[in-house]
Amino acid sequence: MSQSVHILTFDIEDWFHVLEHRDTASEGDWCRFESRVERNTDRILECLDEANVRATFFCLGWIARTHPQVVKAISAAGHEIGSHSDRHLLVNQMTQRQFMDDLRTSIASLEDLTGHQVRAFRSPGFSISRQSIWAFSVLAENGVEWDSSVFASSHSHSREPALDITGPVTLEWRGMRLKQFPVVPGCVLGRRISFSGGGYFRLLPYGLIRHLMSKSDYAMTYFHPRDFDPDQPLIPNLPLHRVFRSYVGLKSALAKFRALLGHFHFIDISEANKLLDWDALPKLQLDGTSLSIPNGRKICLPA
Ligand SMILES: [Zn+2]
Repeated sequence: MSQSVHILTFDIEDWFHVLEHRDTASEGDWCRFESRVERNTDRILECLDEANVRATFFCLGWIARTHPQVVKAISAAGHEIGSHSDRHLLVNQMTQRQFMDDLRTSIASLEDLTGHQVRAFRSPGFSISRQSIWAFSVLAENGVEWDSSVFASSHSHSREPALDITGPVTLEWRGMRLKQFPVVPGCVLGRRISFSGGGYFRLLPYGLIRHLMSKSDYAMTYFHPRDFDPDQPLIPNLPLHRVFRSYVGLKSALAKFRALLGHFHFIDISEANKLLDWDALPKLQLDGTSLSIPNGRKICLPA
């Protein structure tokens, strides 16, 4: 990579869209909670406007239908709209058919609203794992060209990431192709540290985040509207360790985010796609029912 590629992305969902929690799991419950996604997204758009930066926004199809003004405002400001699924369900807990239906509903809702093709996707909770690697086929078959569902480190919602990679790769199989833009940890004193979004960004001191970002030729950020909202209510019955992870650092996150925008040049996925030298980056070939990866191992795929 001849120049640093630092990508700015957001997952557009509301503060109550936490995963694997019974009290907020079903769509029927969501209308009981105060909606904060519009004001929190407006705050992000103001920051990006001030910094003159374009980003990729992975939006829930549900948000497009229930808060169309939010997605319209993002698109009207010139940002790229991707899909964050329709109803924020973990891919590794769905069947292939359920995932396909959810994805298609999401893409239709977003494209109807903005008039632009959805080319990018990120799964809720980075939940495309080894067992749900078929999701890459479903994405490519439905017009998605760029996926950012791989969290290249151990992670609470996908203990076994689909791919063991440290940067962008092209996946190729049966005439299909998908470019993968993973979230990768930084490295300090030989330790891999996630830093580029969500709770990690809120928890770590800004000096360390800046150091890790400056050492990374490639970095994928991931923020949520709720990351910058210190006044959001407490999610009912959330276990204590998850309260910590969800609410730590909310007060200082916006100032850290503004500082980050001032220190680094960020681009959206579409721009990164043009900048990256894909011929020089790894190509992972899907061979029949398995995926060959550079270290010689193979990942078997369900039939
Ligand atoms: Zn999400």
